[in-house]
Amino acid sequence: MTQKQKIEFFIETLEKMFPNARCELDFRTPFQLLVAVILSAQTTDKQVNKVNKKFFELLKNPEDVAKIWLSEIEKNIKSIGLYKNKAKFIFATGNKLVNDFDSKVPGNITDLQKLPGVGIKTAKVVMAVLYNWPYLAVDTHVHRVLNRLGFVKTKLAEETDKKTEKIFSDKDKSRLHHLLIFFGRYHCTARNPKCETCPFTQICKFYNKK
Ligand code: SF4
Repeated sequence: MTQKQKIEFFIETLEKMFPNARCELDFRTPFQLLVAVILSAQTTDKQVNKVNKKFFELLKNPEDVAKIWLSEIEKNIKSIGLYKNKAKFIFATGNKLVNDFDSKVPGNITDLQKLPGVGIKTAKVVMAVLYNWPYLAVDTHVHRVLNRLGFVKTKLAEETDKKTEKIFSDKDKSRLHHLLIFFGRYHCTARNPKCETCPFTQICKFYNKK
C-alpha cells in the first residue's frame, strides 16, 4: 500500500467509525470557544463543559472580563487542573481582545497566538472549529495515534505538528481534525487501545511490533 492509499484507507475507515465526530466542547460565542479550549489543556472536555455551564453565564464576550475580578474566574474554574494559570490567561486574553482586537476573536493563526495562553494547538482548534479552516491541531491523542500508526516518528507533539503539515493535504486536514481526536479518545486510547477490534492492524506499526 502506498502512503497515499494508506491515508485514503485511514480517513475513509475513520469516517465510517465516527460519522458524527465533532468538537465536544460546548460554547455559544467565539470567545467562549477560545476560553473552553484554553481550559481544556490537560483536562477532559466533559469536565470543561461541566464547569462552563455556570461560568459561561458570566462570560459571553471579551467585554465581560472587565466586569469580573480575576478571583471570580478562579473561583468558577477551580475544579479544573492548573486553574490559577488558566484564570490568568482568560483574564489577560479577554482584556487584550478588547484593547487590541476590537473585542473579536482573530481569524488568523498569527494574531491568535499573540493572546496569552494561546499556543499553536489552541489557535488551530479555533481556526478549524470557528472558521472552518483546514488545520489539524495536534493534541496528545493525535500525537499518539499518528506515531502508533507510523505516519510520523516523533517524540514531541510540536514535531508531529510540523510533520502533519506535509503529510496530509488541506482537504484531509479538515476532515482528520475531529476524526483523529475521536479515534484517540474512544478507540486507540493511551492505556488500553482496542487492537482486537481495530481495522488498522495491518498498517499499524505499534501493533505489528507487539
Ligand atoms: S492496532 Fe491498536 S495501537 Fe494500532 S491503531 Fe489500532 S488500536 Fe491503535
